Parts: sequence; structure tokens; C-alpha cells
Amino acid sequence: MTQTQTFSVAQSRRAILDRMAAAARGALSPAGGRDPADVTLVAVSKQQPQEKIAAMLDAGQRVFGENRVQEAQARWSEGPNRREGLELRLIGPLQSNKAREAVALFDVIETLDREKLAIALAEAFVREGRTPRLYVQVNTGEEPQKAGVSPAEADDFIALCRDRHGLTIEGLMCIPPEAEAPGPHFALLARIAGRNGLDRLSMGMSADFETAIRFGATSVRVGSALFGGRG
Ligand SMILES: *Cc1c(COP(=O)(O)O)cnc(C)c1O
Repeated sequence: MTQTQTFSVAQSRRAILDRMAAAARGALSPAGGRDPADVTLVAVSKQQPQEKIAAMLDAGQRVFGENRVQEAQARWSEGPNRREGLELRLIGPLQSNKAREAVALFDVIETLDREKLAIALAEAFVREGRTPRLYVQVNTGEEPQKAGVSPAEADDFIALCRDRHGLTIEGLMCIPPEAEAPGPHFALLARIAGRNGLDRLSMGMSADFETAIRFGATSVRVGSALFGGRG
């Protein structure tokens, strides 16, 4: 790895953190702005080369998002990337037959969206003796090809996870439709969270993380703006 590369990854992380902080300070809130420390940067490392991930770790980044269990296992389950304080988040769809592997590796699973998966996760928690934090994914744009519960089903699904399957839900996650303004989707996710007593919102990606922060995101999932395009 060259010095220039280490430098540029650290710089691009710094630039994203600065933009996040500015968006937080400028957000409308009763207290007049949000505390930048309340928003976590999740570095989406899927399909990125190992040298960039190593440089990101060297720059101090510890929270990473991956969308495939197998790819994440290869990269994170052992070896030089296993640094102190690492937090791994699954942000892609999870098949229930991979629940155990996901529970063994990830600290946060953001894509809980059906009862079959809730059952598989509850079982995996017992077998693995680990309880990753959970987010329910909401398909705010009701796109047929996209995962997530529909906004109309979200309250019942959250209650089902809690009451029937004994799961603690930490927050909600969404991926707005690409062709639409994201603000209304972020606002909808925040409303659903509020009426269900949830205060964590995973929303916002490279193109819209500042908007998401203004609408209350507590974590943003940034890939290409941080690492450059995916190979
Ligand atoms: C890939 C991915 C991201 C990051 O997307 P960028 O546009 O590269 O920032 C965020 N969230 C999810 C769920 C993803 O799959």
C-alpha cells in the first residue's frame, strides 16, 4: 500500500465526518441543532479492495457495513481486520438459513423484515450465545423488488418481534427509491420509529446522508463517497 493511498482514504473519511457534523449542527431541533456525536458513520466496505479497508482501519474507522454474509466472513471473521472496537453491521437481505452465521459475525443486523427471519434469529441468539442489535427494515417506497416491511405493516411487525419472539428492536432502517426525493421517506421512517418508541434511525447513503441527518438519522451508511466506486 502506498502512502498516498493511506492519505487519501483518511482524507475522504475526514471530509465525510466534517459534512456529517455540519449537517447535524444545522439540523432543525428544539435544542437548535443536533450533536454530531449522535450520528455514527457506517463505512460500507462491500466490494472494496483490502488495501482501502486497511487504510480506513488505520484512519480510525471502526464501524463497517456489509451486505453479504459470505463476503463479510471472508473479510472480517479473522485476520488483520479484526481490530479492537470493531463493529460490523449487516445491511443487506438475510436468508433465514444464514441466520446463525450472521449472528456469529455481526454486531448489528439492520434488515429484519419478516417473521420467519425473526424466528430464525431468536433461535440463533440462543445457539450462538450472542445477541446482535436489531433494526427492522421498512420499505418506505413500497417498491416490489425491495426488501422491508411496508409502512402500514411496520407497527404490527415490530410488536410481533417484541411480544411473540422476545426480540429487542433498536431502530429502523430504510433505503428510499432512487428516483424520488429522499426527505419524505426519511420523515416517514422517523414517524414510524417515534410512535413505536424507537430512537435509532439507519438512513442516508452517499448521495443523501446530509438530508438524512437533518431528518434525524443516528447512523448513515456511506460507501462510494468514502472509498470511491466499487470494483
Ligand atoms: C451499498 C449500500 C450502501 C452504500 O451505498 P453508497 O451509495 O455507495 O454510499 C448503503 N446502504 C445499503 C443498504 C447498501 O446496500
